[in-house]
Amino acid sequence: MRKLCSTCGTLYPTWYSSNDCFICNEERQYVPEEGQIWTTQEELSSTHKNKLISINHRLFEIAIEPKFAIGQRAFLVLSESGNVLWDCVPLLDEETIRFISSKGGLSAIAFSHPHYYSNMNDWAKVFDCPIYIHQADEQYIMDKSEYIHLWEGEEIPLWDDLKLVNIGGHFEGSSVLLISEPSKKGVILCGDTMYLSPSKNHFALMYSYPNRMPLPISEIKRIKQRLDTLDFNSVYGFYSYQNVIGTAKEILEASVKRYLR
Ligand SMILES: [Zn+2]
Ligand SMILES: [Zn+2]
Repeated sequence: MRKLCSTCGTLYPTWYSSNDCFICNEERQYVPEEGQIWTTQEELSSTHKNKLISINHRLFEIAIEPKFAIGQRAFLVLSESGNVLWDCVPLLDEETIRFISSKGGLSAIAFSHPHYYSNMNDWAKVFDCPIYIHQADEQYIMDKSEYIHLWEGEEIPLWDDLKLVNIGGHFEGSSVLLISEPSKKGVILCGDTMYLSPSKNHFALMYSYPNRMPLPISEIKRIKQRLDTLDFNSVYGFYSYQNVIGTAKEILEASVKRYLR
């Protein structure tokens, strides 16, 4: 039986014998006060299911209900030459497989950063597609497989209008997926490379969000330079509420200004 971490949602291969979750013990995450808690995919699927939400004609949100582990959402991005799963949720149930298959399956899975890797190889196996991970984060891959394609450098075009762009910050390999449609000015799927505040008026850029660990100002300046090169006005983030349509660039610019004051 493969161990699934209840705190961060990482799935470990059968050979992983440690009782400590590597990802939770890394300084950007945490082990709960009551200690390490493991579950299994079988247990998770008996109490949880995936919620599939249409955001627009080419974007669907996938999130586990009720909330499990870090509670992230993944996105199914529809595209003419092949669909992409952006990030991952630790539950892959029959209904989700049927839904994605009805939309044409997946041509790739791509990641913002290691906190979403969870059961990525299961998704890749079911849909027989490669997994794109930035090479800088290779050391955080807990289950290396033949599906994983490490990419290097600042950006890599996939196909149609889909492009992976490395931003860094939270992790050196932290990346975003840039889509030119349906917003004419561009859409960014960012994971938690940028973290929209509940006020929706501020993006936090941090080394660790749960542990409130800041990034050095030099990193904020470098990230600003990277983001300045991208055309976008809409952002979809880590949680279901983190949607900004139309004004994302202005909010980001004001947020970076605050850091540099
Ligand atoms: Zn963990
Ligand atoms: Zn994270």
